[in-house]
Amino acid sequence: MKICTKCVMPDTRPRLKFDENGVCAACEWDKIKKTEIDWDARHKELEELCDSIRGKQRYDCIVPASGGKDSTYVADKMKNEFGLNCLTVTITPPLETELIQQNMKNFLEYGFDNIKVTPNPVIAREINKFGFVEQGRPMLSWTSCLNSVMFRMAVDFKVPLVMFGEDGETEYGGSNETRYLPYYDTDYAIRIYTEGNDPRSFVKGHSDQEMSMWLFPSKEEIKAAGFKVGHWSYFEDWDPYVHYEFARDNYGMAKADGRNTGTYTDFGQLDTPLYELHTYMMYLKFGFGRGLQDACIDIRAGRLTREKAVEIVNKYDGEYPEKNIPVFCEYYQMTKEEFDAVLDKHANKDLFEKKDGIWRPKFVIS
Ligand SMILES: [Zn+2]
Repeated sequence: MKICTKCVMPDTRPRLKFDENGVCAACEWDKIKKTEIDWDARHKELEELCDSIRGKQRYDCIVPASGGKDSTYVADKMKNEFGLNCLTVTITPPLETELIQQNMKNFLEYGFDNIKVTPNPVIAREINKFGFVEQGRPMLSWTSCLNSVMFRMAVDFKVPLVMFGEDGETEYGGSNETRYLPYYDTDYAIRIYTEGNDPRSFVKGHSDQEMSMWLFPSKEEIKAAGFKVGHWSYFEDWDPYVHYEFARDNYGMAKADGRNTGTYTDFGQLDTPLYELHTYMMYLKFGFGRGLQDACIDIRAGRLTREKAVEIVNKYDGEYPEKNIPVFCEYYQMTKEEFDAVLDKHANKDLFEKKDGIWRPKFVIS
C-alpha cells in the first residue's frame, strides 16, 4: 500500500489519486482550499441563490438531517444565516440508536419542520443484507436511498434547493469533478452515490411502486421541478469537529458514551451500530477504517501531527466490532458462521491473514 505523505490515507481508497510527491487528492484539495478558493465569493453565490428563491414556495430548502453534528450545523446556517424556511428530512437508519433519536428530538425543539421517511424496513433489510453479503456494504439500502429520497421530496414538495453536508468525493479524495461546481444532477448522483447500480437489481420480487424510495424521479419530473442540489462544503471550509462543537454548544447535541469502535473519536456517525460494521468492512476490503478516516481529517485541520496519527491509527483502526456481532447477525438473520463467511469473502488476502478467527493486518501504517 502506498500511503499519503501528508495524511495517512492509502492508495487503496477507491478513486483516490496521488501526485508525484506522494500527496493524495484530499490533501491537495485541502491546500487549494486554504490558498486559492475565494470563500467570500462562494458565500455570495449562495446568498444570491437564497435571495432568488426565498419565500416563493412553501419550503425554500430541504436539509437532509439526522440529528448529527453536520446536518444540525447546515440546517442552522440555512435557517438562521440565510433566512430560508427549511424542511429537514430524515431517513430512518437501520438499527437506529436511542442517542441519535434524542439528538434529533433536541434539534427539532429549536424550531424545524421535519419529515421522517422510513423506507419499507423489510425491503431495506433485504437490500442491506444483499449489500453486506455481495458487496461488503452493510448499509447499502440507507446509503443508496439518501439521494433518491431527497430528489423525490424536492419534486413532490416543490422545493427549489436541497443542501447536503459535505461532498465526500472532494473532501476525502475521489472524483474531482465537483470541486468547482456548486450543484450536481441525477446522473452524477447515480454514478457516484449508487456506483451506477440500479437498486432494482439488489432484490427481487418488489414492484417499482414498492421500490419508489430507492428510485429517482424521472428526468422529466426533475427538469420540470427545476430544483438545485448542492453540498454545504462548496460554500464553507468543511470541518466536522467545528460542527460538533457548534451542535453541542447551541443544540445540546450529546456524544457517545466513550470512543466509538474502531476510532479515537466519540462524536461522529452516531446513527446506527451498523456504521461499525460498515467501516470494519471498509477496513477488510481496503486496509483503512474509521480511525484512519478520522485521523486524516484531524491532520488536515492541524489538530493531529502525522506522527501521532500513525500511532493512533495502528492502535484503533480496524478494531473488530465484537460486542455488536450478535446484533448484526440478528439483523441480517444469519448464523455467526454465515456472518464470518461474509467477512472471509471480502477480506483482502493481500493485506490480511486470519489468526485465531480474526483477520489481522499484514501491514503497518507508517
Ligand atoms: Zn493525504
